[in-house]
Amino acid sequence: MGGHVTDLQQATIASGDDDARSGPDVDVVVVGAGIAGLYLLRRLRDLGISARAFETADDVGGTWYWNRYPGARCDVESIDYQYTWDPDLLDEWTWSERYATQPEILRYVEYVADKHDLRRDITFRTRIADARWDDTSSTWTIRTERVDGQVDGPADDGGGAAGTGETIRCRWYVMATGCLSAPKDPDIEGAGVFTGEVYVTGRWPHDGVDFTGKRVAVIGTGSSAIQSIPLIADEADELVVLQRTPNFSIPAHNGPPTADKVARFDGRVDEYREEARWSSAGVPRDMPELGALQVDDAARRARYEQAWEEGTIFSLTGAYNDLFLNPAANETAAEFVRSKIRSIVDDPATAEVLCPTTYPIGTKRLCLDTNYYETFNRSHVSLVDLRSEPIERISETGIDLASGRSLTVDAIVFATGFDAMTGAIVRVDIEGRDGVALADKWADGPQTYLGLMTHGFPNLFMVTGPQSPSVLSNMAVSIEQHVEWITDALVALRDERLDVIEPTELAERAWVRHTNDFADITLFPQANSWYMGANVPGKARVVLPYVGGVDRYRQACVDVVESGYLGFRRANSANGDRAGDVVNDGIIRPLAPDVMVMLDMMAELGLPPLESMTPTDARAFMEASAAMSPPGPEVADISDGTYPGAAGELAYRRYVPHDAAASATDALSPLILYFHGGGWVLGHATSDDAFCRDLANRTGAIVVSVDYRHAPEHRFPAAHDDAWAALEWAVSAAQELGGDPDRLAVAGWSAGANLAGHVCHRARDEGAPHIAAQLLVTPVTDHRMATPSYGENADGYVLTSSLMRWFMDHYVDGARRDDDRLSILHAHDLSGLPPAVVVTAEFDPLRDEGAAYADALRAAGGSATHLRAGGQIHTSLMAVGALATPAEVREAAFVEFGRLVD
Ligand code: NAP
Repeated sequence: MGGHVTDLQQATIASGDDDARSGPDVDVVVVGAGIAGLYLLRRLRDLGISARAFETADDVGGTWYWNRYPGARCDVESIDYQYTWDPDLLDEWTWSERYATQPEILRYVEYVADKHDLRRDITFRTRIADARWDDTSSTWTIRTERVDGQVDGPADDGGGAAGTGETIRCRWYVMATGCLSAPKDPDIEGAGVFTGEVYVTGRWPHDGVDFTGKRVAVIGTGSSAIQSIPLIADEADELVVLQRTPNFSIPAHNGPPTADKVARFDGRVDEYREEARWSSAGVPRDMPELGALQVDDAARRARYEQAWEEGTIFSLTGAYNDLFLNPAANETAAEFVRSKIRSIVDDPATAEVLCPTTYPIGTKRLCLDTNYYETFNRSHVSLVDLRSEPIERISETGIDLASGRSLTVDAIVFATGFDAMTGAIVRVDIEGRDGVALADKWADGPQTYLGLMTHGFPNLFMVTGPQSPSVLSNMAVSIEQHVEWITDALVALRDERLDVIEPTELAERAWVRHTNDFADITLFPQANSWYMGANVPGKARVVLPYVGGVDRYRQACVDVVESGYLGFRRANSANGDRAGDVVNDGIIRPLAPDVMVMLDMMAELGLPPLESMTPTDARAFMEASAAMSPPGPEVADISDGTYPGAAGELAYRRYVPHDAAASATDALSPLILYFHGGGWVLGHATSDDAFCRDLANRTGAIVVSVDYRHAPEHRFPAAHDDAWAALEWAVSAAQELGGDPDRLAVAGWSAGANLAGHVCHRARDEGAPHIAAQLLVTPVTDHRMATPSYGENADGYVLTSSLMRWFMDHYVDGARRDDDRLSILHAHDLSGLPPAVVVTAEFDPLRDEGAAYADALRAAGGSATHLRAGGQIHTSLMAVGALATPAEVREAAFVEFGRLVD
C-alpha cells in the first residue's frame, strides 16, 4: 500500500512536504464493514481515495452479522431501510416482507458487497488495538490485532483470542462501528458460573440454537427480548422472563408492505427518498398538526387505534405533535398502550407487571412485536418482576432471586442490551493530540461537533456518532447522509489543497450545548434509557442522540458546509507552523432550540409581517396569537380596575403572588408597577399576563400592570405622560393595592421598559417618589436605531429592525426622537437613578442599546446588573410556559430584582 499514491496524497505532495512525500500507507482506515462501512468503501473508491477497512467478524453485515437471535428483524420497514446510493438495487432485490428478517437483510448486505466487489478492501477477523494521532505528520497510526479464535461466541468484544496484527499509517480514520455494537458487560453477580448454556442476543451462534425440551430464562425485556421471546417460547418446555423495566410495544402487523406505503413509494421513488432525507425521522410521514389534548377522548382513542393498526415505531408517538414535549399529552398515549396490554394479557396481575409506568412512552425505544404480550398467556411461560423480586446471583444451575426462590434452568439468554453509541468508539484505545485518550475526553459524556468529529482528534470521523440523530432515525438514511458528508469533506479538502480537518472548541461546545438544550425541552431525559447512557453502570447520564430530527440536523450539516466549513480548522499538513490554517470559527445553531422550533413554525405559517398591517389589524393579530399562549402560573388573586391616566381613565390589572404577605396578614408587600411591551402601538394592561404572574410569584410583590395610550392615535409623549400618571397613582393607592409605598419598583418590557426607565428619570428630577429598583427587559433606550445589533438581527427574530422603525414612526416624529424622555440612553444625566436589572437578548435589534444603557448607568455611578439571554430573541422572556430555555435568565432577573425591591 505504501507505494500507492492517490489524488488526495498528490495534493499534499505537490505542496513539497517531505513527511507527506513518504506518505501514509493509505488515505483512509475504516473500522467496521456494516451498512456504513460498505457504502463508505464504495464511495471512497469512486472518488479515488484509497481505503482499507477492518472488521472483527469474518464477513460483512455489522449489526446484521451479529444479531442472529430468533425473531431478529429491522423495526423500520424494508422500503425505508435499504441503500439508495445504488438505484439498481431496487430492481435487483425484492424484499419478502414488510419488516425483513435478519437473515434476509444480511443476504442483502452480502449481495451489495459482492456486486460492488467490496470485500477486497476489507480485512476480516481483525480488530483495532489502538489508534494514535501524530501531529507532526498529521497521520493516524493504527495497530490491528487478528482475532484467531471463534468470533461468534458470547464475548463482549466480538470474541476470539488476539493474534499479531499490522501497523498502518493513514491520513483519515473513520469509525463506522455502529451505535449498538458493543454489548453491555454482564452486570449480574455470578454471570460466569452458570454451567448450562449461555447466549447473548447480540452475539448469537451462527448455527442457531434449539431450545426444544429445555427450561430457558431470558433476562431483559428490550427490543431484542421482545422479538425473541415468542419464538423461544415456541420451542422451550418452560420459559421464564426476568423483567426489570417493562417496555412499550406495539404489534408490527408484519406481512406484505401496506397499500398506503406502496402507493406513496411506487412510481415516485426519487421524491420519496428526498422526502425521507428531509423528514424528522428519516421516513416520510405526514406530520401531525394537533396536540393530543386538543381533541376529545373519543377522537384521541380513534387516532391511537389507527396508529396501533398501522404498526410502525413512529405511528403512535407521531400521532400528535406534543407527545415528546408534554407529559400530560404523552400520558394519553401511554395509557392507551397499557389498556391494550390489559386487554391482551389474561392474568391481570401479569398484565400490570407488563405495563410501563415509570417513564413517558417513546423515551425508551418503542418496540415492535409479533405476539409478545400474547406469549404470557401460554401456560409454560412465566414472568418475574425484578423490581419486587430482584436477582441475587446467577448460580451453577440457574438464577437465585432475593425472595429466596431459585430458578433452575438449562439455558440463560442475556438480552441485556448495549453500551450504546459511545461504547464501540471508546472501547478502542484512541489517542488524539497531546496523547489525550478519547475515553478520558468523553468521561463525562461525549463531546462532538455534529456527531461527526471531536476536537483534539483531527481527521477522526464517526458515522452516526453521538449527538447526531442516529438511533432516533431510520439508520439507513442517517448513515448515507454521514458517509456523504464525510466524503464530501475529503473532496473539499482535496480541492483546496488541504488535508487536515478538526472542529474548533467553540463550535463543539456550542453543539454539545445545543444537543443537551434540545433534549431538555423534551421528555427524553425522564427515562433511564440507553439513549441517556443510563443502562450502563457508571456511564455519564447525558442524552446521546440528537433529538432535533433528521431534517433539522441535515440542514445544520448543509449550512456548515455552505458557510465555508463553519466551526472547523482546516489545514495543509505540510504547514508545520499552522500559519496557513484555514480557521472558520463559529457556532452553527446559536439560537436556543425551542426558539428555533418556534421560529420554524412561524416561518411555515408564512405570516405577514406586522409592519405590513394597519395598527388595528396588527392588534387583532396579536390578540389572536396571545389566545393560543399558555396561561401562565396561578397567582393568589387577580383583580382589574382603572386608574387616572394623564388624559382620562385607563385600565390596570393587579396580581397578588401566591405567598403575598398581604394575603395572609395585614403586612404590605413590595409593589411593582409594570409597563407592557408593544412598541407604544400594541398591547394593553393584560397583554403580558403570563410574565406578570411569574414576576409576582417569584418576587413576592404585588404587580400592577397598567395600560397607557397608544400610537398612532396618541403620539409621543402620550404614553410617557400616562406612565408618570400611573406612578403617581400607584404611590397614592399603594396601600389600597396591598403594596408598600416605600418598597415601590418599576418594571417593563421593550417599549414598556422605556417607560419604566423614563419614570425613574422623572422621579429623580422631581425628587419623588422613591423608586427602589427598575427591571428593564430588552428595553428601548436609543432613538438612533443604528447599533450593530440592529444590523445583525435585522430580519427573522420576530422583532425586526423594520418593525421597530414602524413602531417608532407611529409613535414619534423624527425631530422629537432625541427627547430625553424617549432616548433615555442619551439623557443629559444618568446619575442618581434606582438600581437596575437590565436583560438583553442575543438575537434582538435592541440588544446593544440595552447593554449600553446598563453600562451607562454604571458609568454614572449607579448600580446595574446586566443579564444577557444567550440564544434568545426579543420576545423570549415573555413566553412564560411556552419556551423553556429563557426561564433560567428570567428567574435570575426576578431573583435579583426581588432582592432589590424587598
Ligand atoms: P435494551 O433495549 O437496552 O434492553 C435491555 C433489557 O435488559 C432491558 O429490559 C433492561 O432493563 C434489561 N437489563 C439490562 N441489564 C440488566 C440487569 N443487570 N438485570 C436485569 N435486567 C437487565 O437492549 P436491546 O433489547 O438489545 O435493544 C437495544 C436497541 O437495539 C433497541 O432499543 C433498538 O434500538 C435496537 N434493536 C432494534 C431491533 C429492531 O430493529 N427491531 C431489535 C433489537 C434491538 P432496564 O430497562 O431496567 O435497564
